[in-house]
Amino acid sequence: MPQEPLSKSERMELRREHGFRELPEPVEKYLGPEYAMAFACLHCRTSNMRHFDLAPSEYPLSGECPVCKNKTFNLGRDFKPPKKSNEAQWKKIEFLIEHGFQFQKVRLVPTEMESVAYPKTLTEAKEFVVKYKKWAIKSGI
Ligand SMILES: [Zn+2]
Repeated sequence: MPQEPLSKSERMELRREHGFRELPEPVEKYLGPEYAMAFACLHCRTSNMRHFDLAPSEYPLSGECPVCKNKTFNLGRDFKPPKKSNEAQWKKIEFLIEHGFQFQKVRLVPTEMESVAYPKTLTEAKEFVVKYKKWAIKSGI
């Protein structure tokens, strides 16, 4: 009888038992040393890290998608793209971008590092864009 292939979690469990640490997934197309920014395309829902020889504040807010040639949006270094099938999250991201929020830091006290957490749902996003309108940037759309 051929053995059932192990699921990923079973493999990880095995490795853990044997004292191996699961290596982190390689970062997708990580081009720059510390100033790579995630550019995400709402059309094909892909995200790529891009590096420019510019100060982070001078990075363009949008660019061209390397996959489908539509517009990509600079969503900062910490953006983690949702799964392509996650309609609700992509709708939320689109809504935020339309309203001038590309995951830039919203700091209520400019001199402090602390920033407002981004909304988790579209419903929350609708309140967020009103509440923090002052921090909106010129929409890239
Ligand atoms: Zn695209």
